Amino acid sequence: MSKDVFVFIEQRDNVLQKVGIELLGKARELADDLGQNVVAMLLGENIKGQAEVLIKHGADKVIYVEDPILKEYVTEPYAKAINEIIKENDPEIVIYGATSIGRDLAPRLAARIHTGLTADCTKLEIDPESKNLMMTRPAFGGNLMATILCEDHRPQMATVRPGVMQAIDTDNSRTGEIVEKKIDFVPEDMNVTIKDILKIESKKKDITEAKILVSGGRGIGGPEGFQPLEDLAKVLGAEISSSRAAVDAGWITKDHQVGQTGKTVRPEVYFAMGISGAIQHLAGMEESDLIIAVNKTEDAPIFEVADLGVVGDVNAIVPKLAEALKKA
Ligand code: FAD
Repeated sequence: MSKDVFVFIEQRDNVLQKVGIELLGKARELADDLGQNVVAMLLGENIKGQAEVLIKHGADKVIYVEDPILKEYVTEPYAKAINEIIKENDPEIVIYGATSIGRDLAPRLAARIHTGLTADCTKLEIDPESKNLMMTRPAFGGNLMATILCEDHRPQMATVRPGVMQAIDTDNSRTGEIVEKKIDFVPEDMNVTIKDILKIESKKKDITEAKILVSGGRGIGGPEGFQPLEDLAKVLGAEISSSRAAVDAGWITKDHQVGQTGKTVRPEVYFAMGISGAIQHLAGMEESDLIIAVNKTEDAPIFEVADLGVVGDVNAIVPKLAEALKKA
């Protein structure tokens, strides 16, 4: 009988990626609702040393596979290893990050295992009656949220957007089982040659890591509207982000975009400045701890999710706010 909630853990250069830790937090919740265990799947060259970290973040068991072929992510050897682990353990649920790796790996596994896959989920819950996994994701261009069930096949599989799920804080008292899985790789499994890996150096902080975000929308009036936001961000130690309208207008680069087709953020404070609050924007920021919105239109949808709303001209309010905070 299918059981347990499995999580595919991503690593790069043997550094565990944040998304896997976030997924363990969600898997813990799902497994507790089902009365089952959380199992982390960890692949790499010399990766065993990281297994303990996963236990401290909510895993009951870690199945790890070590092989030089797994040093970098390559589709075929990773798919082979995960496929064998899934076939041997018959999990109830398997979740992956909706990252470039997860988006490559999960559909292949779904096809090999003959099960379904719900991609790019923003919410996962156990249906209290049927105990099926309810997988929610934006549909029809983000105009509605669809909840999808996989009733007849196991495992139920989903990729989940990074930044959406909440990681569990490290708990050093947690204990668990760490098990090695041996896979017989053959030379044909490595069907690509990695010639070089180019790393992009960026001085900018990723907006998904920021504790405070000052976000600008079309209401700031133009690219020059970001300067007062930058001044405010500097006082607050914040990063700048934006709506898609500002990106599409060419006022700021795409890596700043928050929302369904941008990044999902969960800062402690999110300032929405001249942003209407379209559903596609909310999809990327509504889980922020505190949302402060400035908008000149009283019934702008952003006020429905804002904890603090100010009706007024953003261009007048932002410089005053920065000035007042500087003095504080
Ligand atoms: P607008 O909707 O034009 O809102 C501007 C706001 O500023 C208004 O509320 C106005 O009252 C206010 N305003 C104007 N002047 C001032 C002023 N001087 N002071 C104060 N307030 C002022 N959007 C995203 O953001 N992220 C996404 O990832 C995303 N993905 C999408 C995916 C799809 C498939 C689709 C169809 C759309 C997507 N969108 C996304 C676009 C989204 O629907 C909205 O068009 C977009 O979020 C609007 O951006 P905005 O709020 O900055 O602009």
